[in-house]
Amino acid sequence: LIEVRGLTKSFGDQQVLKGVDFTVAAGTVTVLLGPSGSGKTTVLRSMNVLETPDAGLVRIGDAAIDFSSRPDRRAVKALRARSGMVFQAHNLFPHKTVLGNLIEGPVQVQKRPVDEAVADARALLEQVGLAGRQDAYPSQLSGGQQQRVGIARALALEPEVLLLDEPTSALDPELVGEVLAVIRDLAAQNWTLVIVTHEVRFAQHVADQVLFLDEGVIAERGGAEVLANPREERTRRFLARVL
Ligand code: ATP
Repeated sequence: LIEVRGLTKSFGDQQVLKGVDFTVAAGTVTVLLGPSGSGKTTVLRSMNVLETPDAGLVRIGDAAIDFSSRPDRRAVKALRARSGMVFQAHNLFPHKTVLGNLIEGPVQVQKRPVDEAVADARALLEQVGLAGRQDAYPSQLSGGQQQRVGIARALALEPEVLLLDEPTSALDPELVGEVLAVIRDLAAQNWTLVIVTHEVRFAQHVADQVLFLDEGVIAERGGAEVLANPREERTRRFLARVL
């Protein structure tokens, strides 16, 4: 379903990605782990073309871009439409209600009928455990609830894959669990997920594939068992620090 090949990216004279390759099968969970600054966020943002890689290929479903030449806007739009992004902080529209936030994309961007978008939004709110909060404003919700709305909003656009960039790292510790529980539910329902996280224990439970990034390359990869039995020294060192 998803293919990332030969991804490179520099910021100024710093090469942040040095040729990243991986695939993601439909309905599976991929966890990107690695030290701070190793390039995890840049990989995720490249998949959504929030960053433009210098070279390499990103394919999601039937949309693909080879970044060795400058992509045209239509291709970028097509690739973007296939993924939903969940950021560290939720980025909800503060002046819109929960429901307003959820239907904004489907109605304004996808031109879907309002009643249909509202019905779908209600189902998504139930899915993230927030049925009944549709008329609340973001400021009336806890950080964990806001992040769950952020997840529902990304899902409202019916992406083929959900890209989550440290979705719990901005939350107070007591709110982390409820957001991880929602992500775990999505995994159980066979959503395709790519998650950057430092929550190694959570990764152990949900990951079908673990990619350990170090200095812009995938230093080690495998199933969740990699986390218990890393082969590479740098993976071991990293896990010893975070576990
Ligand atoms: P963290 O776990 O701290 O979020 P990360 O593995 O996600 O780290 P990235 O955010 O991808 O790492 O950043 C990799 C490197 O690229 C870092 O050194 C960062 O400073 C640099 N970088 C990222 N974005 C930019 C940018 N827009 N301009 C300049 N440098 C950047």
